Amino acid sequence: MNKRELKRFKAALEQKRDAILGATGKKAHWENMEDTRHGDFVDQASDDNEVHVNLRLLQTDAKLLRAIEAAIDRIDKGNYGICTVCEGEISLARLKAVPWTSVCIACKEKKTA
Ligand SMILES: [Zn+2]
Repeated sequence: MNKRELKRFKAALEQKRDAILGATGKKAHWENMEDTRHGDFVDQASDDNEVHVNLRLLQTDAKLLRAIEAAIDRIDKGNYGICTVCEGEISLARLKAVPWTSVCIACKEKKTA
């Protein structure tokens, strides 16, 4: 992969990371607001459901965030686009679809199979 492509992937990853961090910040703020409503039993049940959904979203974001940061790290180290399992090249099409991926499509399929 050439430097220009790497730069483009890095910019895309950083943009995605910032988007997640921005969204997580908003969610944390929303949770603080929920805290002030404790003791309001009228719709406590529906609040609990919302909190569960919210936590699941945060966990997904945290996982994605780690993957994105690892990918940026690989760009800096110069081994971005190399499968961490078989050390083969990850196809450009796959990287364009999932820029934070660390495994090639063959290894990904083996993992999920
Ligand atoms: Zn592989």
